[in-house]
Amino acid sequence: MKQPQLFGTNGIRGIPNQDLTIELASGIGSAIGTFFNSPKIAIAKDTRISGDMFMQVVDSAVMSTGADVIYTGELPTPGLQYYCKVNKIPGIMITASHNPPQYNGIKAIASDGTEINEEMEVKIEEIYEKKAYKKAAWDKIGRYYYDSTAIDLYMDSIIDSIDSKRIMESHLKVAIDTGNGASYFTSPTILAKLNCHVVSLNANPDGKFSSRNSEPKPENLVDLISIMKTGKFDLGIAHDGDADRCVFIDENGNYIDGDKSLALIVKNTVNKGDIVVTPVSSSDALEEVCREKGAKLISTRVGAPIVARAMIENKASIGGEENGGIIYGKHQFCRDGAMTMALMLNLLAKENKTVSELLKGIPDYTMIKTSVPRKKEWDDIKKLLMEKYKGNKMDFTDGIKLYDANGWTLIRPSGTEKIIRIFSESINKKDAEQYNKKYVDFLNNL
Ligand code: MG
Repeated sequence: MKQPQLFGTNGIRGIPNQDLTIELASGIGSAIGTFFNSPKIAIAKDTRISGDMFMQVVDSAVMSTGADVIYTGELPTPGLQYYCKVNKIPGIMITASHNPPQYNGIKAIASDGTEINEEMEVKIEEIYEKKAYKKAAWDKIGRYYYDSTAIDLYMDSIIDSIDSKRIMESHLKVAIDTGNGASYFTSPTILAKLNCHVVSLNANPDGKFSSRNSEPKPENLVDLISIMKTGKFDLGIAHDGDADRCVFIDENGNYIDGDKSLALIVKNTVNKGDIVVTPVSSSDALEEVCREKGAKLISTRVGAPIVARAMIENKASIGGEENGGIIYGKHQFCRDGAMTMALMLNLLAKENKTVSELLKGIPDYTMIKTSVPRKKEWDDIKKLLMEKYKGNKMDFTDGIKLYDANGWTLIRPSGTEKIIRIFSESINKKDAEQYNKKYVDFLNNL
């Protein structure tokens, strides 16, 4: 199958006026409008400075194809996705997710609320390359509308997806860092509506992300972690720039790996016979949890849209990735930071235990993640790995997953950079480190 060239794993990304120009944005807007061929297209943006500029150009491009633009405001990406799903119209999100503030991007949403798949991306790129844009007659040109209800629709749907009464009675103490991003209003408001005692950090829209880097990694969450270390809160929460991801800090100020929070939420959400979907890069902790609960785990290639599509096909109840992106099928089939937050609150209220106590029930695997420069074509590297390690059990769902006695290593080329990613996991930290070093050495010596 032909691979999209402009669309990466999560839409088109770039630096405004350098690689992501208004000319490119206009062409892509026209191509998306032409491809969807829908009477209406919903559009939202995150808080980045260049968001206004790209909104205007994409809006105009879409209207030129004959579609009305429905602007839904500054919203988390899953907020726009929910609006698209409910109204059965496609959408466009202006965001660069967790990238630094100088970046921006364009992401297309199908009318079921999921991110478009690679096949659709290729079609949009073909329209763009051929400039085969639909050009509406003067009286069929689209109009511009603002729908201020999108934000409440999204927040209320999350509150309706959990046991809000029990959470409200629990009066949980929560600190949240929205990192100046798209969730600056939604997540703190949902927490307030759930009767939580809330301390919000960086809950002001600031397109320079002055407070912290947008990716919710421990080194970027120093302030939140220090607040959690006071011992005065039950839960710490942080989102990335467009709030499709959510990570947690426990009541003692410990950062919780995305794999562990995913396993914890899955454990407390699934029933016997349920289906769970996750990429092949996820921790075995999830597999153990599913086995314990009698749920079936399906592994896919890496990438949230791929997980979401597999969830729809297999009627899965929950899925997600190790980076804090959880997809809750009962609400919608996309990664959703605020929904993930609500599921954790639901769990705390139900179990009446601390986060660290709850995590004791999750197997404590270690995953080592490294990367090396890619020196040859991936197909050649793959052949060499298969030859060298032909005694090992292998899996080819994505890249190559090599099993050693006490764990596994996933080796796959990056979709966006000329590097090879190497993830090694074992229940024993030393083994994980040793496996990772073994394959890194092999790849470096090619
Ligand atoms: Mg994101």
